[in-house]
Amino acid sequence: MTAPLIDPFARAITYLRVSVTDRCDFRCVYCMSENMTFLPKKELLTLEELDRMCSTFVGMGVQKLRITGGEPLVRRDIMTFFHAMTRHLDCGALKELTLTTNGSQLERFAGDLYAAGVRRVNVSLDTLDDDKFAAITRWGRLPQVHRGIDAAQKAGLRIKINAVALKGFNEDELPAITEWCAERDMDLTWIEVMPMGDIGNESRLGQYWSLEDVRATYAQFYTLSDLAERTGGPARYVRLEETGQKIGFITPLSHNFCESCNRVRLTCTGELYMCLGQEDQAGLRDALRNYPDTAEPLRAAIRAAIERKPQGHDFDYSRQRLDGQMSRHMSHTGG
Ligand code: SAM
Ligand code: SF4
Repeated sequence: MTAPLIDPFARAITYLRVSVTDRCDFRCVYCMSENMTFLPKKELLTLEELDRMCSTFVGMGVQKLRITGGEPLVRRDIMTFFHAMTRHLDCGALKELTLTTNGSQLERFAGDLYAAGVRRVNVSLDTLDDDKFAAITRWGRLPQVHRGIDAAQKAGLRIKINAVALKGFNEDELPAITEWCAERDMDLTWIEVMPMGDIGNESRLGQYWSLEDVRATYAQFYTLSDLAERTGGPARYVRLEETGQKIGFITPLSHNFCESCNRVRLTCTGELYMCLGQEDQAGLRDALRNYPDTAEPLRAAIRAAIERKPQGHDFDYSRQRLDGQMSRHMSHTGG
């Protein structure tokens, strides 16, 4: 292993989120427009390139890999990549290999994921109502996701549900979603909706519902105790005393935890985003593609990028568009 990745603010970079595709079999209204233009295939890192890229990061001290997208499980032959990462788990360099998925393909892949060494999966699901699910995802069907969750639990994967908090959409389902997760022994995290990318002009289903209000809604039903747990990311946790459940709240653009930020994000085209809230990125694809026989240029490019990791994203709101939107999609950087 080479020297670990330490940024200018003495933070060790140990967590890499990797988007393996910008494509998806759903069209969630807050994430994509119905008619998306996707990247030409040649722009994408091949599975072999993804392997080299992630392996280089692991060699530089990354201990946790989260695979995301787009929908990671619609990338053709993606299991080849998961199985390739198993060697890093086996030798102990990688502590966790995980993914964030919409659940649509879990029925097919749950067993394979477990065999590759995945133990925990985040499944995104915003409602337990079939019609509302079809409306919010446009192309998704809830029974398919239920079958995926069943298969994943049967395979031994621990599931955390991620729900985007949307006022007037899933506000009334908070107790039902919470109980459903408790019954199935799944953790639950609420995500605050972010204005990202051009998602078309269609009417938004549901509006911004601040996590402070979500928390207040919880307090109507349960006794909450704050947990000190920190993941280096923008999540806070509470325990519901009545059920013992741990509930998370993610405010993606809150800057409360920047000082402990341990993560960077790689897009499917090989751009490294050092901070979710800023536009600055470093293209790593050339250093990877142009030097197939040595990792040194790629390592140098990664180090140079980490040198540019900002202290926090509250320092650079000027780079966002005037309407407060991030111009890129979540499916590009990977949520
Ligand atoms: N397709 C996978 C899934 O849905 O889990 C992985 C990629 S998706 C971009 C990752 C996460 O980002 C999902 O939990 C999704 O709900 C969340 N997300 C997408 N657009 C968002 C937005 N505008 N604001 C907040 N979260 C968003
Ligand atoms: Fe697809 Fe995930 Fe975006 Fe929904 S949130 S459109 S499932 S990438």
